[in-house]
Amino acid sequence: MDLREYEAKQLFGEYGVPLVEGQIADTPEQARLAAAGMGGRVVVKAQVKVGGRGKAGGVKVAHGAEDARDKAEQILGMDLKGHTVHRVLVEEASEVEEEYYFSFLLDRADRTFLSICSAEGGTDIEEVARERPQAVVRTPVPPGGVDRAAALEICREAKVPEGAHECVAGAITRLWGMAVGEDATLVEVNPLVRTVDGRVIALDGKVTLDDNALFRHLERVPFTDEADFDALELRAAAKGLNYVKLDGQVGIIGNGAGLVMSTLDVVAYAGQKHGGVEPANFLDIGGGASAEVMANGLEIILGDAGVKSVFVNVFGGITACDAVANGIVQALEMLEGRGDDVSKPLVVRLDGNNAELGRQILTERAHPAVRQVDTMDGAAAQAAELAAQR
Ligand code: GDP
Ligand code: MN
Repeated sequence: MDLREYEAKQLFGEYGVPLVEGQIADTPEQARLAAAGMGGRVVVKAQVKVGGRGKAGGVKVAHGAEDARDKAEQILGMDLKGHTVHRVLVEEASEVEEEYYFSFLLDRADRTFLSICSAEGGTDIEEVARERPQAVVRTPVPPGGVDRAAALEICREAKVPEGAHECVAGAITRLWGMAVGEDATLVEVNPLVRTVDGRVIALDGKVTLDDNALFRHLERVPFTDEADFDALELRAAAKGLNYVKLDGQVGIIGNGAGLVMSTLDVVAYAGQKHGGVEPANFLDIGGGASAEVMANGLEIILGDAGVKSVFVNVFGGITACDAVANGIVQALEMLEGRGDDVSKPLVVRLDGNNAELGRQILTERAHPAVRQVDTMDGAAAQAAELAAQR
């Protein structure tokens, strides 16, 4: 998940990265009060998860509290690249002498972190990188991490003015501590500034935390937005189901990751004959397929507006097919009883342990949404065809 500037700066503060005092405000009046408490010049900054706010008019200097209220009034409600501003950060203005760029970035291809540093930071960093790539120094982080010596080396390579080396290196080592401590995949400070009175300050902050590590940082859950996650993925996770949202039309439920993965392939292949129908999601109900697990799974899959048909692909093992079939029947009854829409076609393929018995149960129940196909390829073809028809 991406953090907003004030959230990134909360982490900076916890890890000792130098900052100026700031306060968030959701109304112009709150901005006025915040500025009044700071006195003098302040900067009013839109808190949205997009870059380039400065150039788009989302960062304004204000002279005094009344002016801060006016500037906040201009910024709140503004649309910045499709993001409406609901909150601003009011900070004491800094007298900037130099602007540097610094980031740590997880480089998945190289299986390492990169540090990226430039003595020419600020809002034109992309242009600098394009026109004079040598001014932006990329260094893989050594296995031991970034200590003072490594940080000083980065400063030298990037031609940060010598007088700022100690302070910048201090900020870099703290940012590294934060990247590791918080499982961040991106920590970017642009600009990292040197003020006229010689202090080095993180004036902006952009941080991405690894969602896969969120369980290790439950205190960061308040940083998450509904928009960061698919609502159905959240619901599935809450029910302990392994569900992944995709972009196609055929919902897929299977037992076991291997079977589900190959089902995705088979559906995508069959879908090519039907105008490019693709999997809409996948849901692994795992080893046990109790009625409750099946009902939860079907509820999630049927709740996905993109789903036109569902392919339930089960290979009975320890959980035999008759148990799965009973699970499907009870799940449909449960959902119908609650008034859920269960009219989307369900193509069911049962194989393995007690397959015959399972098929018989479904045949006897004869639910109008359910049709059975004995082979995986045949079932995939039918599910794709049904999805294409709807
Ligand atoms: P971004 O445009 O979304 O990256 O927002 P920033 O927080 O980086 O602000 C944009 C630019 O505004 C910075 O690169 C600075 O040049 C300038 N700026 C922001 N805060 C201050 C400040 O306190 N003093 C001065 N002089 N400039 C600032
Ligand atoms: Mn910036």
